[in-house]
Amino acid sequence: MAASAPPPLEPLTEDWERALCVVAHPDDMEFGAAAAVARWTGQGKQVSYCMVTSGEAGIDGQHPDEVGPLREAEQLAACRAVGVETCDFLRLPDGILEYGVPLRRAIAGVVRRHRPDIVITGNFQDTWGGRNLNQADHIAVGRAVLDAVRDAGNRWIFNEQLTDDLEPWVGVREVWAFGSPSAGHAVDTTGSFDAGVASLEAHRAYIDGLGWENFDSREFLEGMARQTGQRLGVGFAAPFEVFPMGWGE
Ligand SMILES: [Zn+2]
Repeated sequence: MAASAPPPLEPLTEDWERALCVVAHPDDMEFGAAAAVARWTGQGKQVSYCMVTSGEAGIDGQHPDEVGPLREAEQLAACRAVGVETCDFLRLPDGILEYGVPLRRAIAGVVRRHRPDIVITGNFQDTWGGRNLNQADHIAVGRAVLDAVRDAGNRWIFNEQLTDDLEPWVGVREVWAFGSPSAGHAVDTTGSFDAGVASLEAHRAYIDGLGWENFDSREFLEGMARQTGQRLGVGFAAPFEVFPMGWGE
């Protein structure tokens, strides 16, 4: 059987002003989308991060009480490397997140506060496209993000949040899942690639804690970025699956 080239990707729209990235763990953005974020902040767009957990269960040899603050600090450094000024930590329990109403409620509250045009999360399919399984928290968060974006627009869902200045928010046009094996879109990260590498490097204590002694952030990120770039017709790119959030599309 002849190998066929992977299909070309469409460029993502960039006619928006505010994006909110909601992911399960510190480092999730850096393993897939930080260079894209650096491109957008470089265009003057406002990009905020929200970590659902603080990744405190991520290092086998170290207690979560120590690891949580360490990983939050590394995440803030990773944010600075790509021009992200705001990072919320919801501090839900790492490793055992459950898809459900409490998770939707927490994320809907963040969407209502930030009022983004675009919401970004990570791949939440069962796999990364081959046989490598995705992680349970990623799947729970991604599914909850899709629902929470709609919840955020409905005054009668999580109505207790709508006090003071907080209003329903119906302005999210699309949800984008980076690293999805069903990605049909991508963004050119050739010019912002180095910032993406610096952002991943900010998680050094975590990477060392995993015992990946010879892990090279640049080499790792280049592999996927180059492959995706070929499909977009550029040097480097990051892939995204696009979910339109309007009704009846
Ligand atoms: Zn993760």
